[in-house]
Amino acid sequence: MIPADHPRYRSLLTRERLAECAKKGIVAWEGLTAHGRGEAFDYLIGERTTESALLAERTAAAMLLTARHPVISVNGNTAALAAGRIAALQKACGACVEVNLFHRTEARIGMIENLLIDAGVDIFSGEAERLLPLSHDRAWCRRGGIFSADVVLVPLEDGDRCAALVDMGKTVIAIDLNPLSRTARSATLTIVDELTRALPRITEACREISDTEKERLIHSVNNHYLLSEAIREMTARLSHALD
Ligand code: ATP
Ligand code: MG
Repeated sequence: MIPADHPRYRSLLTRERLAECAKKGIVAWEGLTAHGRGEAFDYLIGERTTESALLAERTAAAMLLTARHPVISVNGNTAALAAGRIAALQKACGACVEVNLFHRTEARIGMIENLLIDAGVDIFSGEAERLLPLSHDRAWCRRGGIFSADVVLVPLEDGDRCAALVDMGKTVIAIDLNPLSRTARSATLTIVDELTRALPRITEACREISDTEKERLIHSVNNHYLLSEAIREMTARLSHALD
């Protein structure tokens, strides 16, 4: 039992949830270290949504709402931490949800899909094929899903696949706390915010954004600016860390 008055209560609960899901095989063991890297960057950004992250979240909403065929690509960590939030976002933007894993087994895919279905997600399933130009298992996806999407939201993505999706001409929205990662630098739009803070903000924006704001945001996407702002926020916090 984690005491509710522990100063790191939320973080400890999250770790407990991930460990529990790793024991069941939903989260890959490697996913635990990926989460640790995310937590380190969250410390640096102050465990809050910055103004530039909020701008990225509203832009992501605009992109998802105006897409012809938007897809949300879900991995083990995302399902373990945010299945309900994925369901809410899907309802607000009408995207397909497809499971795509680096450490892929049919058993893991099945467990993750069930977890998402229980949370209210409408899963895009069917036969996966090796369709992406990658040498690892993230190459597997569905022809009618990620392969034919024009806009893909990839929370906690791997740099290789992010670049491959961009090279295929897709608009790729990444959620990644590390503004230096290959994912963050190769995505069309990077949200430097924690997954469980970012998703509800995108959902909220989907519900309230006007057509004029959508247009304006889509025409002024500047990922370099968003990453620079995140790095500036982190640098400023580091410079005054011991004040
Ligand atoms: P890349 O392959 O893009 O260069 P990487 O190898 O560090 O980066 P992966 O391990 O492929 O990244 O993916 C994990 C990424 O997700 C990390 O960059 C980490 O910062 C980020 N991350 C992990 N957990 C969260 C979270 N809860 N919210 C937001 N970002 C997270
Ligand atoms: Mg990687």
